[in-house]
Amino acid sequence: MTSDRSKELIARMLHREMRDAAPGAPLQPTIAPTSAYHLPGSTDAPHQYGRWSNPTWTTLEAAIGRLEEAEAVSFPSGMAAIAAVLFTQLRPGDHAVLPNDGYAATRALQEGHLAPYGVETTFVSTPAMDDMSFEGSRLIWLETPSNPTLDVCDIAKAATKAKAAGALLVVDNTTMTPLGQRPLDLGADIVVASDTKALSGHSDVLMGHVASRNDAIVNAVRNWRTTAGAIPGPFEAFLAHRGLETLELRLERMCETAMRLAPLLADHPAVAGVRYPGLATDPSHTVALRQMRGFGFLIGVDFGSAAAAERFIAAAAFLRAATSFGGVHSSAERRARWGDAVSDGFVRLSVGCEPTDVLVADIEAALQTVLER
Ligand SMILES: *Cc1c(COP(=O)(O)O)cnc(C)c1O
Repeated sequence: MTSDRSKELIARMLHREMRDAAPGAPLQPTIAPTSAYHLPGSTDAPHQYGRWSNPTWTTLEAAIGRLEEAEAVSFPSGMAAIAAVLFTQLRPGDHAVLPNDGYAATRALQEGHLAPYGVETTFVSTPAMDDMSFEGSRLIWLETPSNPTLDVCDIAKAATKAKAAGALLVVDNTTMTPLGQRPLDLGADIVVASDTKALSGHSDVLMGHVASRNDAIVNAVRNWRTTAGAIPGPFEAFLAHRGLETLELRLERMCETAMRLAPLLADHPAVAGVRYPGLATDPSHTVALRQMRGFGFLIGVDFGSAAAAERFIAAAAFLRAATSFGGVHSSAERRARWGDAVSDGFVRLSVGCEPTDVLVADIEAALQTVLER
């Protein structure tokens, strides 16, 4: 799943600049819980005030930046990262294109907070992005694969169209992480992600980041964080960094197990339909092959009814009933309970790090339970 180039980036991320560290320096990042820094006389110092910078974030940002091959700016949640991009890159009178099937809070931010400032938006389904003209728009937002339907659109094609229209292309890369998909390499201007999910991976912290290779964008986003004040806590940054160090290992297991489970689910009589970009029959497959590394750890499973879906979740010993995804523990939930535009029996299954054979056997047994009732 991982290219040689990515492997090199992962090794560099793990070792950071420790070769140049002073003897006796702590091997791992220190948690710096401080609002102020020692600042005698001149203000010329690497850190001055706690809302402006913190060495624990800087270490995390350098690590994420290595994987993105870009500048990364960390935020205390994915939504704080998303807000930073929308509020710095859009002005009254601008037009944006957003997915109508992506993360609901991104749409809510536009409708509830940007629209009143005079930013107009066209909402389009993820597959329809491929044929949509971006003329007249300032900003194009993609979420691919989209959460929760796992539809995919062509990032490189969108980048070409956005460039021709003079628009910025932003990709929410939460579902794939920088190891599973590299939107900046495909021509996107900005990546945003909820690092709450697979990047941190242990369901114990909220975090997010913005990454870009454009200095003006990075400066605007960092300035937004400093002035609006949506800053990560040092302990949270430490936890995210600690999780990031095992991202490759976790993703490998998660994607491998998902690839085992998807065909098994698709062929099972208890299941009405499956969405997984790794299935050759899935509408997302062709584009996914081109732009994703591995096919991710999320599977959409339609059980035909809410009751059957809930029976499945309750029957599995190794599925946590929870919202959110990307953790070491497999989890599942029926998305219609939040009002997502999916059928009542649609379950988003997030495949975790349990030993593959054990999880597969557990899920097979749970499927059997659904049939038996
Ligand atoms: C969870 C999620 C977000 C929001 O992230 P938080 O860390 O919960 O603020 C944004 N986009 C996608 C695709 C997500 O799954």
